[in-house]
Amino acid sequence: MLAELYAFIMGRNKANLGDYTDDRLVIVIYSEKRSRSQRVNRGQNMSPEELMRIALAEAKQGDAPFGAAIVKDGQIAIAAHNTVKRDRDPSAHAEINAIRLLTNKLNTTSLSDYTLYTTCEPCPMCATACIWAGISEIIIGASIKDLIQLGVPQIDLSCEEIIAKSFRNIKVTKGLLKSECLSLFK
Ligand SMILES: [Zn+2]
Repeated sequence: MLAELYAFIMGRNKANLGDYTDDRLVIVIYSEKRSRSQRVNRGQNMSPEELMRIALAEAKQGDAPFGAAIVKDGQIAIAAHNTVKRDRDPSAHAEINAIRLLTNKLNTTSLSDYTLYTTCEPCPMCATACIWAGISEIIIGASIKDLIQLGVPQIDLSCEEIIAKSFRNIKVTKGLLKSECLSLFK
C-alpha cells in the first residue's frame, strides 16, 4: 500500500522502490505532502526559523534526535531524520537520509543551489556527503561543540574544517534555534 501510494505521489514506476524501507517511504510521503501544501501558498517563502522547525519536527521522530531539511528558494524539498537503529545502518544520519532521498527523487547526484537545514552540525561523514552532493549552504542549530558539552558522543571536527580541506566553498551559519535543537537531548 505504501509503495503504491509512493508511486502515485512520485509518478514513478514501482520497480524503482527497492531501495526504500517503509519508514523512508513515510518520510518521502510526509515531505511531498508538505511541499504540495506549500505550493498552494506559492510565492510565500518560509522563513529560516520555519524551515528549521521542520527539521526539529523531524528530529522528534528520529532514532536519535537529529533532523534535517533540504530547501531551495525558501521552499522545502525534502525532510528526514535519523534512522540508524530501524535501518540497522550506522550511516543513516538525518543529513545523509535527506541527501539520499532528494537525489533519488530528483534523479540526480548534484544538489547545487540547495540549502541544508540541520538541527545539529553535520558530523564529518555528513559534511563530506554535503561536499560530494554540491550543497550550496548549511544552516545549523546546535554545534558539535555544544553536543560534546552536553555529553553527546561526537567526533570533534567542525564542518567548516572539513569544508576548508575540500574543493568546495559552502556557506555555513550556526546557532539558528540552537536552544530548541539542544533541548531535544535533555
Ligand atoms: Zn552525520
